[in-house]
Amino acid sequence: MRTVVERQFAKGDRIGWTDVPSTYEAAEAIAGRKLDRRVNYAIIEGEVHSACNWSSTCSGCEGHGCSECGHHGVSRNSVWVPLLPKEYES
Ligand SMILES: [Zn+2]
Repeated sequence: MRTVVERQFAKGDRIGWTDVPSTYEAAEAIAGRKLDRRVNYAIIEGEVHSACNWSSTCSGCEGHGCSECGHHGVSRNSVWVPLLPKEYES
C-alpha cells in the first residue's frame, strides 16, 4: 500500500528521526496540488518528497547472486527526492 510519512527529527539532532504516518491530504496541503496516489511521499522539514525507486545489478556479485541481494542478483534502492516545482512536471 502506498503511504505518506512525516519525518520527525529528534530535538537538536539531525541524525535521529522517526517516520510517523501522515496522509495524502496533509502532503497535498503543503505541496499545493494533487498528488499521485501510486507514489509514496514523505514530509521532511516541511517539504514534500516523493519516493524514487530503482533496481540495479548487485554490486557485490554483479548479477550472479549472493547473500547480500538475496541471491536475485538485483539490489533495490530508494531515496526521497524533493518534489519538483509544478512547471517542471509534464
Ligand atoms: Zn548480490
